[in-house]
Amino acid sequence: MSTLITGGTVVTATGTLAADVLIVGEKIAAVFARGESTDAATFAAAAAAADAEPEADVIIDATDRYVIPGGIDAHTHMEMPFGGTFSVDTFETGTKAAAWGGTTTIIDFAVQPKGTSLLAALDKWHQKADGNCAIDYGFHMIVSDVNDGTLKEMDACIAAGISSFKMFMAYPGVFYSTDGEILRAMQQASQTGATIMMHAENGIAIDQLVAQAVAAGRTDPVQHGLTRPPELEGEATSRAITLAKVAGCPLYIVHLSAAHALTAVAAARDAGQNVFAETCPQYLYLSLDDLARPNFEGAKFVASPPLRTPDHAAALWRGLRTNDLAVVSTDHCPFCFKEQKELGRGDFSKIPNGIPGVEHRMDLLHQGVVAGEITLERWVETCSTTPARMFGLYPRKGVIAPGADADIVIYDPVATQTISVASHHMNVDYSAYEGMQITGKVATTISRGQVVMTDGEFRGSAGHGVFLPRDLNQYLV
Ligand SMILES: [Zn+2]
Repeated sequence: MSTLITGGTVVTATGTLAADVLIVGEKIAAVFARGESTDAATFAAAAAAADAEPEADVIIDATDRYVIPGGIDAHTHMEMPFGGTFSVDTFETGTKAAAWGGTTTIIDFAVQPKGTSLLAALDKWHQKADGNCAIDYGFHMIVSDVNDGTLKEMDACIAAGISSFKMFMAYPGVFYSTDGEILRAMQQASQTGATIMMHAENGIAIDQLVAQAVAAGRTDPVQHGLTRPPELEGEATSRAITLAKVAGCPLYIVHLSAAHALTAVAAARDAGQNVFAETCPQYLYLSLDDLARPNFEGAKFVASPPLRTPDHAAALWRGLRTNDLAVVSTDHCPFCFKEQKELGRGDFSKIPNGIPGVEHRMDLLHQGVVAGEITLERWVETCSTTPARMFGLYPRKGVIAPGADADIVIYDPVATQTISVASHHMNVDYSAYEGMQITGKVATTISRGQVVMTDGEFRGSAGHGVFLPRDLNQYLV
């Protein structure tokens, strides 16, 4: 089976090219400069090299459209237990929604509850995901219980294709690790080159502010933001960077939301340390004002770190331009407004933390291209190519080149759409971006050579997606 995508503009992290793309089976077989693919001899030679017939079985016209590597969302939480409930997207519904939005790979977080083993957690996440995903997937491992046994298991995880471990300076009593525990895990990671991912907020101090607010009767959702000030994200980020320097391990700050934290990351990078960071669309487009929406509607926007004031968003866009923010992920963690977010009526600290977004990341960041915040190439780089290299999937993923998996999105840059719960495909009863007008829309999503969505019709299937064992970070200095 071969497919030829003709007439489009191939956009990569390094530039744009008028080119046609030949897919044979699950792989990209050739990229032709425009005109080459219509030369019968040239095409036949490329097809023959990939053991394909001299004519393409399927031709997709991509005139006036971008042809980009499929999106890689390196931060999702499907079916995740939190606060006595579960995030509502299953691996099936969440990966289908991702495919609708031009994402062809997710990296989800397996969760080690305290008192259990990492490998048991990995097994459990395989059981949830295997056979259910519409696109390819990998896992990071959340380490919440550091002891001699789990430290040894980190090496076994790497052998099983899990090369990154997330730890928490937030959520005391749940996922929280002490500085000593973090240091021990970082020392273990430094021996293999594994990356430690950090949720960097000072949870010990935050819990005091939360308790004070609740005791004083300040219980509305906006208090979630006010009790988690940006200074406490900056402080934790600096501390994580210092611990990583002492241990000598690579560090990746997840969901960076505050200018204070960005300053710390930039300084560490300038000093040559292996420190990297991601941000998320909600920190670029939403703000503390959304958390302050009346009638408990602010609960829809409760996530940690919290939404910030708009000056932080401006700093984050700048960080994306300077590469101090290398990746845009979603931290997709959907909880329904009814019955789940509502658990926190009368006490904001009981609102499940998380915002849905896996379907809209490519569109929202394309909107950054439209607005002149980032370039077209930077869009592809932050949403696909860099996550592939950061998490050991390159060159199988994140690039349009011969030999790579044929994960390709054909993107219409001038189509318009309005984001709404009425039209999204995530299994959640609200949209954080309800009513937002977007310029640009996914026309076709191809996963390993198979069209999974085209022109508003879903053609994929649960179980098409395969598990991706990952190598180490490819950016280490
Ligand atoms: Zn997360």
